[in-house]
Amino acid sequence: MQANIVLLPGDGVGPEVTAEATRVLNAVAELGGHGFQLESHPMGGNAIDDFDNPLPPATLAACKAADAVLLGAVGGPKWSDPTAELRPEQGLLDLRAEMGLFANLRPVPVFESLAPFAPLKPELLRGVDLLFVRELTGGIYFGPRQEQGDGDVAHDTLVYSTAEVERVARVALRAARGRRGKVASIDKANVLASMRLWRRSVTEVASAYPDVEVSHHLVDAFAMQLMRSPADYDVILAGNMFGDILSDEAAILAGSLGMLPSASLSSGRQGLYEPVHGSAPDIAGRGIANPIGAILSAAMLLRHSLDLETEAAQVEAAVANVLDDGLRTADLAPDGQAAISTTEMGQAITDRIGGA
Ligand code: NAD
Repeated sequence: MQANIVLLPGDGVGPEVTAEATRVLNAVAELGGHGFQLESHPMGGNAIDDFDNPLPPATLAACKAADAVLLGAVGGPKWSDPTAELRPEQGLLDLRAEMGLFANLRPVPVFESLAPFAPLKPELLRGVDLLFVRELTGGIYFGPRQEQGDGDVAHDTLVYSTAEVERVARVALRAARGRRGKVASIDKANVLASMRLWRRSVTEVASAYPDVEVSHHLVDAFAMQLMRSPADYDVILAGNMFGDILSDEAAILAGSLGMLPSASLSSGRQGLYEPVHGSAPDIAGRGIANPIGAILSAAMLLRHSLDLETEAAQVEAAVANVLDDGLRTADLAPDGQAAISTTEMGQAITDRIGGA
């Protein structure tokens, strides 16, 4: 297959981990005879420095025309002044809005060999395989907001329409069909009108998916259940803010922030794929960042935007394989254990793709 993939390496460790994800994509292309055109564009802090714009128009145009976009991370201390007019994160928010990315998918893979690194008891982690589906362009982060008086009163508004809830619910229900067939929908229907609408809309859409088991949970009790018995859940569907908080809470299960991938999807096949972590300025430039979150994001790109399920599964199997063999970047290596570099980890995973 032919595909045009835009790379946005970004700042800090972004370029380091994106280079390894690129190595993997090139190996997949070679093995399967695919023609991937990979093209890098500036975005984030580096683009502020060079173009006075965190999302230069040429970068935005390239992303909109691409089959998929793979991002490293943006931001860093150099651009973190909250009063600055131009901020790297604004580039990312604008890109999500411009590409119409309303569904954020965050799998939390728990590799058995990494269980000792998570703060939960290893027996609680057995069989954990979660997929968060978070609504990304609505809810309280996007509702009307206002400061009143002398700034001593402020309000934000939680707004959802049935159409917004239904389209993200469909993403979750479809995803569950390819997994264990369960969706846990999160709300606060006992208190908030918008969340009663959420529950009604999810229930309505779910009636067309009788093969998927849907349960409804109040967010506060669910936050506790998620840590008490994470293996009970499969797909977790939530609005923008609850999804943001719960997916960060669940990240702890994977052992390191460097392990987690994400996909942000539109109504078509196009998507933006990025590791969950930021630009990690504390370790940038040292060649020690864990590239697995970026590499698993590339696997999601193969699956969701290019429909290459076999290749995506091969990449995921290669990651599990290197971890089973005991290969570790510094974030996964307890004191004293030999750690390998970002490049060595990327190369080790690439070498195992296709069972090599
Ligand atoms: P961070 O995710 O960059 O780092 C948090 C901790 O995790 C650090 O100790 C870091 O060393 C470690 N870490 C992160 N990624 C790692 C990896 N791949 N391998 C090994 N260790 C890793 O979060 P932060 O320090 O709060 O933010 C740093 C900058 O990144 C900020 O400017 C922030 O705004 C930005 N940020 C960007 C994104 C994004 O681009 N989507 C997301 C979050 C934060």
